[in-house]
Amino acid sequence: MTARAIIIGGGLAGGAAAARLAALGARPLLLEREAAAHDKVCGEFLSIEATRHLTALGLDIARLGGAPIGEVVLHAGRRSARAALPFVATGVTRRRLDAALLDHAESLGAEVRRGVGVRHLGEGRAVTTQGDTDAGTLLLATGKHDLRGEGRDPAGTIQGLIGFKMFFRSPSLARRLAGRVEVTGFAHGYAGLQPVEEDRLNLCLVIDRDHYRRLGGTWPSLFTALLAEPGLAVLGNAEALLDKPMAIAAIPYGYLAAPRDDGVWRLGDQAAVIPSFCGDGMAMAVHGGRLAADMLAAGATPAAFQTQLRRDVGRQVRLATRLQRLAGTSLGRFALVAGLGAVPAALTLLARWTRVEPAALARAAV
Ligand SMILES: Cc1cc2nc3c(=O)[nH]c(=O)nc-3n(C[C@H](O)[C@H](O)[C@H](O)COP(=O)(O)OP(=O)(O)OC[C@H]3O[C@@H](n4cnc5c(N)ncnc54)[C@H](O)[C@@H]3O)c2cc1C
Repeated sequence: MTARAIIIGGGLAGGAAAARLAALGARPLLLEREAAAHDKVCGEFLSIEATRHLTALGLDIARLGGAPIGEVVLHAGRRSARAALPFVATGVTRRRLDAALLDHAESLGAEVRRGVGVRHLGEGRAVTTQGDTDAGTLLLATGKHDLRGEGRDPAGTIQGLIGFKMFFRSPSLARRLAGRVEVTGFAHGYAGLQPVEEDRLNLCLVIDRDHYRRLGGTWPSLFTALLAEPGLAVLGNAEALLDKPMAIAAIPYGYLAAPRDDGVWRLGDQAAVIPSFCGDGMAMAVHGGRLAADMLAAGATPAAFQTQLRRDVGRQVRLATRLQRLAGTSLGRFALVAGLGAVPAALTLLARWTRVEPAALARAAV
């Protein structure tokens, strides 16, 4: 590895790449536009694959104080299905997790510059809010945000969805949700509700933008509609912990970056976007970050990396995207919940099929 690695974005993909490169003896530069730890639109369901990857990178997840989650309950109208997860996951905020990973990467020797936004890429450099970097190997890990000139091709992806996240506190609801994530499917969207650290509850949802507008196009009008769902009615008595929800537009579910030889390594959501209900986007981000670091250190090309990453996560992204399309119709939604309610083992199987390949984890010695 000769040129210095310049990682753009300090989420889980960028943080994992930085930590791994530093552990391999390099001194990568990571640029993160936010100056301090921050919240993100995310369900904050950290799967076992993500935990294993982060642990292998040297991050102690237990120290973060998250909430253990071993069961999933699906709701569609008055129907529900429940199943044990084939693993114990953790509910932990991105504010805490991502900051811990960046600190860890720094402790291993990565140079982390916070509060530096990258405007665009040019001639092997990052053009930032604070001037240009030296030329280096560029790793693009800006997550949901596309850099100018680096937009993701939306062909074949699910379009028009927006995401919201709100934290709540409610002792009675916390008791019901202890050890559990609940996913409610509703017309034109779905919501995940689960505990995270410090007795907070995370409600994270995606909804079709046009339907959101039809509901009134405001958080209060959306929230009123959500309270009409039997699985979410309990939120009516919970205390909202943010002044307003966090929101994200244009999530290209189903996106898989094609291998390109333009010298840029694309990681995390810049490489693959799996529908959120799977709760494995973070694992894929960490997996890709680590894989990129290993392949970069071994002298591989970005195209070879992108091809390998598609092998590792492509099937899962395609399956989850088909399921999300199915759940988008009310008939499909009720059929899914009825079918999974009748055969809980199928839910466990689905949870397995939409996760990072065990073989890929084994290859990464995780
Ligand atoms: C609604 C929703 C719910 C989800 N729920 C879950 C879940 O429960 N479990 C799960 O595993 N996955 C979930 N995901 C997926 C998960 O959030 C992503 O897959 C994961 O965050 C991708 O990590 P990343 O590092 O690619 O991007 P991010 O985590 O988004 O990090 C990107 C970083 O880049 C920085 N950045 C952006 N632009 C610039 C710039 N120009 N210059 C410098 N820095 C920049 C940002 O500030 C950010 O810190 C969910 C996604 C959505 C949309």
